[in-house]
Amino acid sequence: MKYFPIEAEPIQSFQSKDELNISVLPPLSLYIHYPWCLKKCPYCDFNSHAIKSTDNYEEKIYLESLILDLQQQLPLIWGRTINTIFIGGGTPNLISAQGMHYLLNKLRALLPLQPDAEITMEANPGAVSEENFQAYYDAGINRVSIGIQSLNNHHLQALGRIHDKNEALHTLDIVQTIFNNVNADLMYGLPQQTVEEAQYDIAKIIQSGVPHISAYQLTIEPNTWFYHHPPRIPSEENLTDIEETIHNILKEHGYNRYEISAFAQEKHQCQHNLNYWYFGDYLGIGAGAHGKLTFHNKIIRTQHKKNPKDYIDSIQKKDFMSKFQINIPKEDLTAEFMINALRLINGFDINLYEQRTGLKLTSIQQSLLLAQSKNLLIIKENKIKPTPLGINFLNNLIELFL
Ligand code: SF4
Repeated sequence: MKYFPIEAEPIQSFQSKDELNISVLPPLSLYIHYPWCLKKCPYCDFNSHAIKSTDNYEEKIYLESLILDLQQQLPLIWGRTINTIFIGGGTPNLISAQGMHYLLNKLRALLPLQPDAEITMEANPGAVSEENFQAYYDAGINRVSIGIQSLNNHHLQALGRIHDKNEALHTLDIVQTIFNNVNADLMYGLPQQTVEEAQYDIAKIIQSGVPHISAYQLTIEPNTWFYHHPPRIPSEENLTDIEETIHNILKEHGYNRYEISAFAQEKHQCQHNLNYWYFGDYLGIGAGAHGKLTFHNKIIRTQHKKNPKDYIDSIQKKDFMSKFQINIPKEDLTAEFMINALRLINGFDINLYEQRTGLKLTSIQQSLLLAQSKNLLIIKENKIKPTPLGINFLNNLIELFL
């Protein structure tokens, strides 16, 4: 068993200058945000807006703005290739077939794209047209992530979803007749949910044959309707039972947990999300979209205006670039890296920290040793890996690096 070399440099080895020294740029992804849904769900804190409540919604103007946005950001990524694309929302399957063709054709014309790039779109049942999915596939989409959440009509209603169980199962079916790479989002810890109900949901989703499942616990976020009208969620004890039941069933059926909430059959891990967790780079386009980009001497964050109308205005006026990017301070990089990488069940290569942050591993030596002594992580065979205890108490583990 190999341990971290404690005789190495002492902790105060931050470089004295503010500049970083990064020799290899990380892989690059593209995130595209589509901010509209048919209706706002009461638990949702994403940048999503009910389509009917948005003045002057026009698909054409939004898609053109996305392309203009990309064109203006291109100088930030000259010479780099895009490995994955993710169209998130919102409900991107509200985009017309014609709109999706326009978007992906323009992207391909503007960006060097890996030939086998994973191109995911999120989709919600209840806003589904079978013909559209075939058209999305023809346009170049090769992975779909479906917001199923539950297969219990009572819970779906409580979550304010627009679909019912039958629509959800139908969507799982039609999408899988077209796509091989499909994720289903499942939510648990729903208001008054029992272990048996959660067991039913996960068993049915597995039965549908999807190769990837994301299982999230319902959390009550500020700025949501649920925050102001809290539902009765299961007790801590029930939540633990529900979570263990779901994880055990997934394991029994060959879904490997590779991140806190992500479970995949072989060769179906989400490449786009893995890039986030390995602290890779991503260009963000669309209302409220974030980006993270590495240069040899700095790492920047970018963020667009959240409100779709303000976003479109700023893009059309071409004046957003000046207020749009900030350098990530050196002292924040460790936490940002760890918040992502420690979510990975199998951990990460010991060299990745230096490669991605430009900081010396010795600068976090004390935190690593402390985390080891608390049995929250292990350092073994050149890997840093959270222990099962570290995964269960991830916030405590991350705090050691703040
Ligand atoms: S469908 Fe998804 S993005 Fe849209 S409001 Fe509901 S949770 Fe939010």
